[in-house]
Amino acid sequence: MKLKEENIKWIQEQCAMRCEQIGIQECPTLIFRRQDVLSKPQTVGRRNTSRYLGVCYRKHNLIFINIKSKYIKRLKGKGFGCAEETLIHELVHLRWDYIQHGRMFQKRIKDIFNGKWYPVKPGLELE
Ligand SMILES: [Zn+2]
Repeated sequence: MKLKEENIKWIQEQCAMRCEQIGIQECPTLIFRRQDVLSKPQTVGRRNTSRYLGVCYRKHNLIFINIKSKYIKRLKGKGFGCAEETLIHELVHLRWDYIQHGRMFQKRIKDIFNGKWYPVKPGLELE
């Protein structure tokens, strides 16, 4: 897909809404271009992003959405090739670091699409 200003704006708004819905208090920084990945020191170790639709740099609260990938066909909607689903997928990694890819992961994405709300992610300062 083309990296158009209006697409970026839509994804950023979507990200803010979904973060509220699933209890992420601090919205991640979203990046969309290969040069942004390369320019951020936080991405060291995970820089060959061309074959991914999205990458979550969880410890750095940073998400790459590969919107220019030929596999991203649409902005909105469910399923492989939709930027919206890619964003939600990466937000699930950010919010629930213990859930691995699989049935539970997919169910969580489905529930989020269906509008389920979740409590705020517990902070690290709670000891
Ligand atoms: Zn994943």
